[in-house]
Amino acid sequence: MPMYEYCCNKCGAQFEEIVSSSATTTPACPKCASGDTKKLMSACRTRTGAGQTGARTATSSGGGCSGCAGGNCASCH
Ligand SMILES: [Zn+2]
Repeated sequence: MPMYEYCCNKCGAQFEEIVSSSATTTPACPKCASGDTKKLMSACRTRTGAGQTGARTATSSGGGCSGCAGGNCASCH
């Protein structure tokens, strides 16, 4: 089964998870146990979706990955 990289929208942690190709949900964050995670395609460059409530979105001028709250995602900054 393939291994994917995920980024936590809450604490900005990145982790790898082996998931089934048929899986439609993302795994929970191993750090904060939040289910608010997303799959990374190549780098942490995804944007926070419009429908995510409570997520601290980075300002449009903020650097790095908007999904990693506060831009503390090491690999995207
Ligand atoms: Zn987390």
